[in-house]
Amino acid sequence: MATLIDGKAVAKLVRSEVAQGVAAFKAQYGRAPGLHVVLAGDDSASAIYVRNKEKAALETGFEGKVHRLPASVSEEQILGLVRELNEDHAVDGILVQLPLPNGMRSDKVLETVSAAKDVDGFHAVNVGALWSGQRGLVPCTPRGCLRLLDETGVKLEGARAVVVGRSNIVGKPVAALLLARHATVTIAHSKTHDLAAICREADILVAAVGRARMLGAAFIKPGAAVIDVGQNLDAAGKLCGDVDFDAAEKVAGSITPVPGGVGPMTIAMLLENTLTAAHAREAQAGLLG
Ligand code: NAP
Repeated sequence: MATLIDGKAVAKLVRSEVAQGVAAFKAQYGRAPGLHVVLAGDDSASAIYVRNKEKAALETGFEGKVHRLPASVSEEQILGLVRELNEDHAVDGILVQLPLPNGMRSDKVLETVSAAKDVDGFHAVNVGALWSGQRGLVPCTPRGCLRLLDETGVKLEGARAVVVGRSNIVGKPVAALLLARHATVTIAHSKTHDLAAICREADILVAAVGRARMLGAAFIKPGAAVIDVGQNLDAAGKLCGDVDFDAAEKVAGSITPVPGGVGPMTIAMLLENTLTAAHAREAQAGLLG
C-alpha cells in the first residue's frame, strides 16, 4: 500500500512557517505584508475560494482586502483598480480571481498586474523567469506539488517524471519546476498516444487533467510517487481527483488523496509567495533608496 502524502499537514506546516516570517517582516519593516484580491462577478465557487484565501491571509498576519466588484463592472474599471494597486506601496501581492465575467479579457487584466506583485505567477515576465531559471514568482499549485514531493523525500534528479495536462496554471509550470530540479520530464495531453504506457514509465506522476478518476492502476509504475492535482465532482457529486485513488494506492509508492492532498497547498503557497514578494519589494526599495 502506498504511503499517503498528507497535504493538510504539510500546508499547516507551511502556514506556520509563513506566520513566523510575517512576524519577522513586521518587526523589520514596521508593516505587515499586504495581499489584495480582486473578485469580479458572482461565481459561487470563486466566492468560496476567495473567502478561504482571505481567512488564511488574516490568520497568518497579512494585511489586505478583497475588492468585490459586480458582474456589471467594465474591463476598464478592473484595469483601473489593478493599476491603483500596482502603485500602492502597502500592497505586495495582487490576485485577480478567475474566471472574470464574460467578455472580459483575462490575459489583458493579468498582464496589467505588476510582475513584482503577481503572486499567482501568471504574468509573462514570471513565466519567462521560471523557464529561464531566473528568480520570479511561481504559480502556487505547482509549487505546492513540488513541496509535497520534497516532503516525501523522493529524489527528483534523474527521475522520470510525467505530467498529464499542459495548462498554463498547472501542467506547464509543474513541468518547468521538475525540469529545474533535473527530472527527465514528459508533458502529456489530450492528443498524446498511449497515455497509459507513458505514465507507467513515470517515477513521478503528476495528474492535472480535470477528469474524475481517469488514471487507474494501469497508468502507474509500481512504487511511483503520484501527485493528483485534479478537483472533480464524480457522477454522485463527490469530490475526487484525476487518479482512481483506490486502485492507484495498491501500486504507487506514495500518493496524495483528494481532498487533503494538493488542494490545501495552494493557499499555503499563495501566502508564501506574498511574503516573498514583500521581501523582494523592500529589498528593491532599499537598493533604490
Ligand atoms: P485545464 O486547463 O482544463 O487543462 C487540462 C489539461 O488536461 C489539458 O492540457 C488537456 O489537454 C489535458 N487533458 C484533457 N483530457 C485529457 C485526456 N483524456 N488525456 C490526456 N490529457 C487530457 O485544467 P487545469 O486548470 O490545468 O486543471 C486541471 C485539474 O486540476 C482540474 O481538475 C482542476 O480543478 C484542478 N486544479 C486544482 C487546483 C488545486 O488547488 N488543487 C488548482 C488548479 C487546478 P489539451 O491541452 O490537449 O486540451
